[in-house]
Amino acid sequence: MNPSTPTPAIDRDALRRRYRAERDKRIRPDGNEQYLEPSGRYAHLLDDPYTPRIERAPRHDEVTVAIIGAGFAGLCTGAKLVEAGVDDVLLIDGAGDVGGVWYWNRYPGAMCDTAAMIYLPMLEETGRMPSAKYVQAPEIHAHARAIAEQYGLFERALLSTEVEGVTWDGSSARWVIRTDRGDEIRARFVSMGTGPLHRAKLPGIPGIETFGGPAFHTSRWDYGVTGGTPDGAPMTGLADRRVGIIGTGATAVQCIPALGRDAGELLVFQRTPSSIDVRDNHPIDPEWFATLRPGWQREWLTNFTILQTGGFTDEDLVRDGWTDIAKRIRDRVVATLDGEFTVETWVRAYEDCDDEKMEEIRARVDAIVTDPATADHLKPWYRQLCKRPCFHDEYLQTYNRPSVHLVDTDGRGVTRIDEAGVWVGDDHHDLDVLIFASGFEVGTDYARRTGYETIGRDGVTLSERWADGMRTLHGMHVHGFPNLFIVSLSQAGNLISNVTYNLTEAGANVAAVVRHALDVGATEVEVTQEAEDAWIERIEGSVRSALGNSECTPGYYNNEGRPMGRRERLNSAGYPEGPVAYFEYIDRWRRSGQFAGLEFRAPVV
Ligand code: NDP
Repeated sequence: MNPSTPTPAIDRDALRRRYRAERDKRIRPDGNEQYLEPSGRYAHLLDDPYTPRIERAPRHDEVTVAIIGAGFAGLCTGAKLVEAGVDDVLLIDGAGDVGGVWYWNRYPGAMCDTAAMIYLPMLEETGRMPSAKYVQAPEIHAHARAIAEQYGLFERALLSTEVEGVTWDGSSARWVIRTDRGDEIRARFVSMGTGPLHRAKLPGIPGIETFGGPAFHTSRWDYGVTGGTPDGAPMTGLADRRVGIIGTGATAVQCIPALGRDAGELLVFQRTPSSIDVRDNHPIDPEWFATLRPGWQREWLTNFTILQTGGFTDEDLVRDGWTDIAKRIRDRVVATLDGEFTVETWVRAYEDCDDEKMEEIRARVDAIVTDPATADHLKPWYRQLCKRPCFHDEYLQTYNRPSVHLVDTDGRGVTRIDEAGVWVGDDHHDLDVLIFASGFEVGTDYARRTGYETIGRDGVTLSERWADGMRTLHGMHVHGFPNLFIVSLSQAGNLISNVTYNLTEAGANVAAVVRHALDVGATEVEVTQEAEDAWIERIEGSVRSALGNSECTPGYYNNEGRPMGRRERLNSAGYPEGPVAYFEYIDRWRRSGQFAGLEFRAPVV
């Protein structure tokens, strides 16, 4: 389809009415409160099922930089610090290995929706080649381990160790980190890379604790129950079982094909269908890969980011669903531009392209799913970016298996759970195994998501400081919290289509600031109140932060459909001019050596 040709067949008003009706069905007064933190019979879901916990003596060390979280945020920060000659670092993580989400998420079919050439950080530094355009979780985990190996971070890691508190000791200008192992680590600097999707949440369905059979969350897949392996070996433990899965988000879309293949029967409980676009994966040719010139990964990252945010390049290097929709909108804006560019022109072009894209996605359901009623229930009625877009070439096909049943709850969710299974309205569904693909905490307090509190100068906690929303410079520096760096997407690049690009840039920042502080003999580095206020003022001026949520189906992208107050907008907004401008800006900021907005303080002698 030519992107500049509007499709007259789409009745925009009817579509809008349908979108609003579907949304209204799903709006709940409890918003984020509908979810539960794992406790009681589910408390074990916070434990590590993959690595045995070995008792050890508490450590009382002092390090230059403590890094909390050994996922890609922590690994990239550690690597950049080592590159900058700061090798007295210590990574701390509750997991038994590095890798973060790619350590925890071992569900069958787990893979990354972002092309590996740009998602896997530091490919050139590690000399590694992805096996395919999109790679599976075990390969991503192996890549995380390769970064740790290359930069000597395993020797500098305290794993299977949960941080319980991080407190600033102003008298010695050190952070004191306490852990569940009785450790007391003193650090000159702390970098926190705890990830945006770290804490599993459960649906607050009445009776959830009463289910009698095995039940687990996708981020703690119980292969003891299912059999099989993360590499795709058949889950023989499910062969004669009735398995239920609650949720149809990005995670469920990836594991349902494997469950459909292996379970005796599979019941998928759906509240809102995901949009499922084409995946079109293919192996990477080593001969082609060998022709790439040094510096290729930065070139690909920049190319993707420009295209994904509506800019122009000579070529689309990544060519995926993210750049496809963005290019369509861009070309439509250009084609319909009549005089000056306005926000209204952009919104109209965006809506037209989105309508066409979603019509394609709904038509794809009809083309693949043979039962018309099932196909109807699998069609998403909202804008593509209201929820995480999904890409898969086996998900919809799974519903053609006679053993797979879609239980659509018409936007209302599962009604009740009992010992023998689940209720949807007046219908009971017997189950042997129950799987929660119910996602992760996003909109809740930072301390609830990290599992520990951070206490800065004068005993002020980060939760108190951020009670009315995040306040930072670059998403990273917080006034009142000297020598602390938060690796975050918000209030920074906010490129959600390729999270790791944000993380490598943030890691480079941490390394540059620490290096400079050490070079000038500063004991404390802190953002000034003025610089933080000015940054917040810029962020709040962003049109982007106010766009696009009022007509969306609820989800964690939009505060579960509740109004986005100032707090929510601050927590989710990015740099007003977008990621490309942010990455250019932050590169200049870092390279200038001035570190504008930060104050480097030396001891008074
Ligand atoms: P999500 O939060 O996206 O999905 C949770 C699912 O549970 C939704 O379908 C939700 O329905 C459903 N649900 C919640 N409560 C109920 C209920 N009471 N009854 C029935 N259904 C219910 O979590 P995911 O783990 O799927 O994905 C989280 C994020 O992880 C993604 O958005 C993505 O950012 C990331 N991810 C990334 C991948 C990648 O490729 N890089 C792969 C997988 C995940 P409803 O939609 O109605 O709220």
